[in-house]
Formats: sequence, C-alpha cells, structure tokens
Amino acid sequence: QRDQTINLGAGPSSLPTSVLLTAAQGILDHDGTGMGLTELSHRSGTFKKVIEKAEADLRALLAIPDDYAVLFVQGGGTEQFSATALNLLAAHAVHNPDYVRNNNGQGPPCDYVVTGSWTSKAVKEARRLGFNANVAVDARKAEGADGKFGMIPEVSTWNLSPAQSKPAFLYYCDNETVDGVEFPNPGFPIDRLPKEYRDTVPIVADCSSNILSRPIDVAAHSLIFFGAQKNVGPSGVTVVIVRKSLVVDPDLGVEHGGPRIPTTLVYKNMLDNASLYNTPPMFAIYASGLVFDDLLRNKGGVQGATERAQQKSRLVYDAIDASEGILIPTVRQPGARSRMNVTFRIARPGTATPDEALEDRFAKRCAEHHIVQVKGHRSVGGIRTSLYNAVTVEQVQKLVEVMRAFVQEVK
Ligand code: PMP
Repeated sequence: QRDQTINLGAGPSSLPTSVLLTAAQGILDHDGTGMGLTELSHRSGTFKKVIEKAEADLRALLAIPDDYAVLFVQGGGTEQFSATALNLLAAHAVHNPDYVRNNNGQGPPCDYVVTGSWTSKAVKEARRLGFNANVAVDARKAEGADGKFGMIPEVSTWNLSPAQSKPAFLYYCDNETVDGVEFPNPGFPIDRLPKEYRDTVPIVADCSSNILSRPIDVAAHSLIFFGAQKNVGPSGVTVVIVRKSLVVDPDLGVEHGGPRIPTTLVYKNMLDNASLYNTPPMFAIYASGLVFDDLLRNKGGVQGATERAQQKSRLVYDAIDASEGILIPTVRQPGARSRMNVTFRIARPGTATPDEALEDRFAKRCAEHHIVQVKGHRSVGGIRTSLYNAVTVEQVQKLVEVMRAFVQEVK
C-alpha cells in the first residue's frame, strides 16, 4: 500500500521509507542496547550520541557557523511566534538598557513582513502579548492583490522602522505554506534592505516549510527556526538556529523593560544544557537525525534537494501554465510561486471562476491514482500539492499525468 501511495500532504507529510524502516527498528531495539530509543534515558550516553550526531549533520548540511547555537525545542512553529520575540526583546533590553526604558514604555519596534497566513499569525501573537509590532508590509494590501495573499511587494515599498529607532528584529517567513508564496531564489532579499538596517537589526526567518530545500545564508540571519514536520522529520521537535551573542539571561533585562519568559522558552536554558534542560522529544529528534544523515550521505545534501525541488515544481507549474486557464495558480507573481506548496484553483473553460465541485472531482481523480492529501488549507480552499524533499520526481510525474488528463476531461 505504502509503495503505491503518493502523499502530497502539507505537513505532517511524507518521509523517506528507508528512514522510517530504520526508525521502526530503533523504536524496538536501538543500536543493540536491548531498549527502544524512546525507552532510554534522555541523559544516557546513547541518546547524547543521537542528538549530537543530528546537530553535527544539520550543521554540515546548512554550513552553520560556530558562533550559532542549534537548539532542539518543543512547542512547534507556533510557539516560536512568541519565543523568538520574547528572547530577542530580552537581548535588546540587555544590550540597550536605556533605550528600552525610555521608549515611552512601548518597547522597541518589531518589524514584520507579512506575505501569508503564518506571518499574519505571528503578528497577531506579538500584538496579543503587547509587543510593538510594525507591519512593514501586508501583501494582501498591495496593488493588484485583491485582499488575498499571492504576491511579494518590492522591498522599496516596505515601511520598515528606521534603523535609528533600534528595531528588536525583522521577522519574515521564507515559504508561506498555506498560500504557496515563497521568496524567489536565492531567498529573502536581505541585501536589498537599507545598509544600516541590515547591519544592525536582527533578522528572523520562519523556514518551517522550505528548510533544506535550498541553501540559506545563516550568517546573514540572527535566528532561523523550523518545525520538523515537512522536510525534516515527525512533528514534535522544532529547530532554532540562533546567533549565540543574542542568547541572554532574560532576567538580567527585566529591570530595563525586557520581558519575563517562561523557563522552557528561554533559549539560554536550552543552550546551556545542550537542548536537554528538560526531557526532549526523543523520537522526533532521532528520526530527524536519520533524515539529515540520509540527505547528507545518500541524496547529495542541500544541493541535491535544491535541484530536485526546482525540477519537481517546474513540472507542476508547466502543467498549470499549459492548462489554458482551467488550472489557475493562486500566486499571481510567477517569481513568488512556492517550490514546496503548489496552490491552484480549478475553473470550467473560459470562466476563470473557481469551481469547488470540479476541485472535489480532481481530488477524487488523484485518489483513484493513490495521490492523497491534495486539498488546500481549510482557510483558503482549492488544491495544494506539496512537493517536499521526500516526494520523488517520479511521483510528481505521475501527479502531472493526472493533472493533464483532468484538463482534457473538463475541456
Ligand atoms: N510556520 C509555518 C511556515 C508553517 O507551515 C507552520 C505549520 N504548518 C507553522 C509555522 C506552525 O507550526 P506548528 O503547527 O508546528 O505550530
């Protein structure tokens, strides 16, 4: 059954079968210990080796510089909406004590580049917690966007806080999973930001749905985080890559206006304890480590993944573009089309109006060919085919055959 199924889910999503077979064995008897991986002490030397290897392989895959920490935490991407802001505000308070106290009690500005649903949620959380969130750009309000996500406005139009106002950070999402919007290769245009801003403001990236699918310049960022459950492993672990100089004891910033932070969200606790401050998500870390090992040693590393991602997404977008308006991409700007989540609507010939009955029929046709989890996110509808690292080129070729046959069927 598994061999036949093409799982295009947006996350949790497909993982390599070879990795799952190894993990299945490890759950029963890890490395000849007579105990399953999740039955070991997280303080044992055996688990320490697992987490250290996972970190070393990830460092090799992403060329992470030594002055960056790699933390394995819990709480998902969603918890990082608050944890990133809390920790960077704490660092800001420690490094700029007078500024925070004197900023009319507002705290420093936090800039957000809102290109889809997940950045929109991050802003909502920042505001709920009382932070001074500035939406530098809301892509829904851009000219021609019609109130929907589906494009990335030019950097020159963004309303960034002045560098002199000492923003605590700039936050963006490299690939918006729901809306299928991704910053064009090579990624978020840090080099287009004003020089003083780029040199002084910490840049935070949510890479939950496209990490390990192309290179990323870690040193140009202060913090990169990603939930595991797309390109990395099972849900349960979130990876935070953070510049060590920004990892502070938040209690030292409180008297200068910095936030108090719940213990498990404090990056310093995780860094000082090598991600073993409390019991970690052992299975998720273990299985993610197997995925890193597989990508690094068997699949050509990030370069191999980059080439496959390009090839797979091109196949699907070519089928969309050849459909004569029956398959309608939801991302209006071709350069912002995601290589990971291909989102489109389906319309009767000549109408350009999405037809839900047709979309249901397409999902049914896919299911007949064992292609599953192709419906769009419940908030936007339509079709979303996710082409994460574990989805093969051959599987995408089968999807494209079904797409082309469907277009003939409704023509
Ligand atoms: N950011 C992005 C880009 C995501 O795709 C998701 C989840 N799909 C999240 C954040 C939230 O992650 P989680 O469900 O792990 O909290």
